[in-house]
Amino acid sequence: MDNRKRSEYQISSNYIKNFPDFRKKLDKYLNSYQIKKIEKAYKLASEAHSGQLRKDGQDYIYHPLSAASILADFQMDHETLMAAILHDVIEDTSIDKASLSKRFGSKVSELVDGVSKLDKINFTSNEEADAANLRKMILAMSQDIRVILIKLADRKNNLETIEALSQEKKTKKARETLEIYAPIALRLGIHTLNKELENLSFKAMYPMRYQILKNALHKSRGNRNEIMEKIRKVILKKLQNENILTDVIAREKHLYGIYKKMRQKELSFSDIHDVFGVRVVCDNVDNCYRALGVVHNTYTPIPGRFKDYIAIPKSNGYQSLHTSILGPHGLPIELQIRTKEMDVMAQAGIASHWFYKTKAKPLIKNYTQEQQWITNLLTIQKDSGNPQEYLRSIKADLYPGKVYVFTPKGAIVELPKKSTIIDYAYAIHTDVGNNFSSAKIDDKTVSSNAVLKSGQRIEIITKKTIRPDPSWLNFAVTEKARHSIRASLKLIKKKDAKLLGKRLLKNSLKNFNISIDDIPTKTLNIVLQEYRCQNIDDLYCEIGLGRRIAKLVSMRVAPQMDSEKKTKRTGVSIRGTEGLVLSYAKCCYPIPGDNIIGHISQERGIVVHRNTCKSIRNDKRPFDERLDLAWDETIEDSFNACIKVEVENQRGVLASISSEISQYESDIISVQYDDSKQTGHNIMIFVVTIDNFKALDKLIRNLKKNKFVLKVERKKG
Ligand code: MN
Repeated sequence: MDNRKRSEYQISSNYIKNFPDFRKKLDKYLNSYQIKKIEKAYKLASEAHSGQLRKDGQDYIYHPLSAASILADFQMDHETLMAAILHDVIEDTSIDKASLSKRFGSKVSELVDGVSKLDKINFTSNEEADAANLRKMILAMSQDIRVILIKLADRKNNLETIEALSQEKKTKKARETLEIYAPIALRLGIHTLNKELENLSFKAMYPMRYQILKNALHKSRGNRNEIMEKIRKVILKKLQNENILTDVIAREKHLYGIYKKMRQKELSFSDIHDVFGVRVVCDNVDNCYRALGVVHNTYTPIPGRFKDYIAIPKSNGYQSLHTSILGPHGLPIELQIRTKEMDVMAQAGIASHWFYKTKAKPLIKNYTQEQQWITNLLTIQKDSGNPQEYLRSIKADLYPGKVYVFTPKGAIVELPKKSTIIDYAYAIHTDVGNNFSSAKIDDKTVSSNAVLKSGQRIEIITKKTIRPDPSWLNFAVTEKARHSIRASLKLIKKKDAKLLGKRLLKNSLKNFNISIDDIPTKTLNIVLQEYRCQNIDDLYCEIGLGRRIAKLVSMRVAPQMDSEKKTKRTGVSIRGTEGLVLSYAKCCYPIPGDNIIGHISQERGIVVHRNTCKSIRNDKRPFDERLDLAWDETIEDSFNACIKVEVENQRGVLASISSEISQYESDIISVQYDDSKQTGHNIMIFVVTIDNFKALDKLIRNLKKNKFVLKVERKKG
């Protein structure tokens, strides 16, 4: 035996000695060629890490090998195991990506690179570094999902060996795991890892609580053992009598799950009834439903607890029948019934892909939902300004609590709880959201802020001419919708501002008797440079947004003109097409027909007031920012008016007046009671939608005819 061979043999035997279990796992599903390659990776990793110790004093190599061993439980392919063994090599040793690629191929080196952190030197804070690293990993994971599986295994072993760290560091790691990695595992359907990560984090973060709960569970298990065993045996026997091939397993809720439920519902341990349950694993789908019938025949089912996730899988692919029964002594017991394949899927989620691949069985499910989720993460990353914002978005996205709704064609869409129609529209496609016109839930027309419930069927009607409404931001909850709305409003606002700015400047220049085209190019360029505008459109935009005053700009570009030369001042006309850069003041609610003036407000553009409005009269703003305004004849916009109604203090008054108002095709936006004056009468202040002055006049006249009404008037500003 030459030297090279001897050393290989020694390392290899050493490795078997220290990790017999790992080797046994490999023998189960990999061929000798693949195992050889894994050993080669091990050899390099152990050499590269030699001399390095973990915080707890162990040889470093134990850590990557443990991570690989976790992945071997999921029967991951040999490349993943190699990368897991090598996962800290780029970060912590002198070996780089290129040399890994040369030795083990680009797949393995890409995987290792995907879990390697960016160089710390490039960041000013830990938070920024964490966020950037997560961003990098998610990019890598979108290329190859195995990256995240390695990261999860890495994290699991880090938590298993966390004892030696300070409590501060423990807490930080644990929190990060609970906020990001455990939810990712759940999202990908890897329930075993999700639960293990949660339990380990719980233990690291709250060692005392963990221990107390563990003891309580242990004690309770002792009491329940007999009953559970009895139920298990009864069910097994009944199923066998029906010739249903099955496994019946007693199971218990994981500690962190118990803890979470206690916290969320403010319950004590003894109040948690789904700690113990039974899982029935059948050979095929038909038998699952037959088994359900048998169970319901044997024990009384608890109404409202049955869920058919076989017919309607959860979006992460989870399939199972859920039901609860009343066991002996009235004890409620949760039951899960599913096939063997579903069981593997339920525990390993996306990782079951490899489990089945290596057994040469067809995939039980396509992972389109996961892919869509990852694509979503990428979109958020594209739109996010900085890594911290991205991190917040990801956390929001991972926050548990989901609703499941259907498209008209029956596809399932998963959304966070409290999602609205608008969130749904944006989840379907950004264009569907941006052009949202109206919606139906189960064939009934609903408003855009309707909150979704699981099981609803949703239809969105779009119109090309429609633009997103800023008010959507008041109720849209998904990061995707909020991002898209903001992004498209920003674009629209810019467009609106440009148009308005151009009109304002044109109008203002009229007072100097010139038009925009009359401005000498040289003058214009000097002024643009002064204002730091790239071009004239930028300048329009600045004016439209109220950052520059049209009159001052006019004086600047037309200095040779005599500004004192009195020409007839012409007002700017309001057309109602100004969009996001025009608003109607909420102190006086101007409507067409009113005499109006306006002022330019930074970022909001023109704010329109009635010229009788006290608030604008008392305004201390420089006179230059005032605008003479007039209504354009073609005005087309929606308006609100505010009316004060004094009524008798009787039952049914509000209903009577409300119906009166709606007869005139006005909607009530808000109603307030003003009982400041002790007259014995009620004063109600309505804000209603109205087309114009004439319509308002008619409404007021008709309200006066109502038998409850003593006085009606338009509220002054
Ligand atoms: Mn590691």
